[in-house]
This record gives sequence, structure tokens and C-alpha cells, in this order.
Amino acid sequence: MMQDYTTPINKLIDEFSKLPGVGRKTAQRLAFHIINMSTSDVENLASAIYNAKKDIKYCSVCCNISDSDPCKICSSTKRDHSIICVVEGTKDVAAMEKTKEYNGLYHILNGVISPMEGIGPEMLNVKQLLERLAREDVEELIMATNPTIEGEATAMYIAKLVKPFGIKVTRIAHGIPVGGEIEYADEVTISKALEGRREI
Ligand SMILES: [Zn+2]
Repeated sequence: MMQDYTTPINKLIDEFSKLPGVGRKTAQRLAFHIINMSTSDVENLASAIYNAKKDIKYCSVCCNISDSDPCKICSSTKRDHSIICVVEGTKDVAAMEKTKEYNGLYHILNGVISPMEGIGPEMLNVKQLLERLAREDVEELIMATNPTIEGEATAMYIAKLVKPFGIKVTRIAHGIPVGGEIEYADEVTISKALEGRREI
């Protein structure tokens, strides 16, 4: 009887525990918070979660999350369409945009090549990048993957693929600490890393 009563809560705790940075204790706290909320608040939360996933769209050009296709950045005439900055994820774009120094376009890989985690280039938006380079007039590709082993290897891998296109490929400078992540770097560090980029 008791077991039956708690099963839905346990299920909720299990689901919360799967979220990044949420331990068992936090999951428990969230679950009990939710069962104490009003039914309408719970409905709003549940539908917000579901709709965020259901309604998410991607820009067919840069592969970023967007509510329009192409996204605001790709369709802007004020941006320099001859430079593409290749980043790992959407959060990197947000960090770069905060600097207000970069005025080119982006390409979102959606991760890095990681044999350890079974992530090959075919699982990233590499093909889309090559198609884009074949189609558009691009002069420079800035590899702004994180300075981790995987990030470096991914930058090198793409640089090699892009070579036949005759496009200048640069790598951001190591203002970002080795092993660090762009999404957590401050604006000055990102600006310096961009300024100091070198050809690879
Ligand atoms: Zn776009």
C-alpha cells in the first residue's frame, strides 16, 4: 500500500536525477516541491518543458537553435558573411555574442569528436559545414572549439577537410585556459582569444 503511494514520486525523483548537476537529494527536493504546487502551476511547468522540446527549431544554415529559419544572425545584412566561427554549441554563440567584438557568422557543431564517448564526425554538423562552404563565399573559418584534447583534435580534423576549399582557417589563441570552456570565459578573455587567432 505504502509502496503504491510513493511510486509516482519515486518515478519523478528518478527523472530529475537524470538532469545535469542534479543529485539524488536535489531531485527529492524538486519532486516534493512539485507535488506541493497547485495543479495549474504543475500543468504550466509540464507544458513549458514539453513545448520547449516540441517547438525547438534549428537554423538550416548554421545549425543553431532558432525560432526562425534562417536564424537572425545568418539572415542579418549587418554581419560579415565572409567569416564563419565554428563552435561546439549554442552556449558558445551566446558567450561570443556578449563580447560584441565578433561580427561574422557561426557554425554550430553540436559537440566534438570523441572516440572515448563514441562520437564520430558523422554525428556532428560537419557535413552541413562543408556544404555551406561549397555554396557560400567564405574567406575565413575560425575554429573556436574548446582548448581540450577533443576540441583541438576536432579543429585539426575540420581544418584538414576544409583545405581543398582554399579558405583561410584560423584557431583562436589560448586566452581560454587549456581544458577550459568558452561558455564560461569572460568577455575580455574571449575577445583576446579571437584577436590572437592564428592560421592553421
Ligand atoms: Zn543561422
